[in-house]
Amino acid sequence: MARFVIQHHQARALHYDLRLEIDGTGKSWAVPKGPSLNPAEKRLAVAVGDHELDYFDFEGLHEGGGGAIIWDEGTVEYPEDPVAGLQSGSLHFILHGQKLGGRFTLRATRANDWILFKRTDDFVDRGEPVTQTRPESVRSGLTIEQLLARADP
Ligand code: MN
Repeated sequence: MARFVIQHHQARALHYDLRLEIDGTGKSWAVPKGPSLNPAEKRLAVAVGDHELDYFDFEGLHEGGGGAIIWDEGTVEYPEDPVAGLQSGSLHFILHGQKLGGRFTLRATRANDWILFKRTDDFVDRGEPVTQTRPESVRSGLTIEQLLARADP
């Protein structure tokens, strides 16, 4: 079964990185506002370079500043060929994570810009954003702020 991870990443700006295992590599999108379980919340997702699958396990501080936590992880299913979906700019996937579940779509708009949104199913939550109610790492329980506070001054 293919894996996914969402890292909460402090680089120059704080953002989330969605990584989906497709064809043996980690296809990646930077999502400034993070994912939502509300189908009405369409989120910009900027395609960035592929990452090795090993990087799905990275949580920690970066040398020179910043760091990342594993905000959610689990397995991903593709109802249609994901390679064709990437090429056509319409990728459907089903997440089985600890915080996120159910059907999502990534749709290309222009150049590297995609839109990420939840599809309607039993996992929809129109209440408080899951990024706010559950900010912590699924591995360590640390928030990104708590992780960064551990950096040397
Ligand atoms: Mn990033």
